[in-house]
Amino acid sequence: MTSRKRSARQKQVEAFRAQLSSGLDEVYARAQAEHAAADSRREEAYRAKSCESKNRYATRWDAQEAIASCAAHGRTGLTCYRCDFCGGWHLTSHPR
Ligand SMILES: [Zn+2]
Repeated sequence: MTSRKRSARQKQVEAFRAQLSSGLDEVYARAQAEHAAADSRREEAYRAKSCESKNRYATRWDAQEAIASCAAHGRTGLTCYRCDFCGGWHLTSHPR
């Protein structure tokens, strides 16, 4: 009788643990999804700022020509970088 009771109690505990663990999986999955969404929003903002809102130059030489042209008009301190998003070149005043 006692062993039977214990077994029922054990089953209850196992069921509770299973529920708890699947609940945690769900919480974890939701946190992961939110994290991924935040990452992609950040990436989107970074892409807009560092690529899509800028002039694109096909080659480093085109970009450097543009830098020289800006310098000739008094806009100095520009450098160029190869864009990870579009593979082109953009100008920046922030040295990296
Ligand atoms: Zn780009």
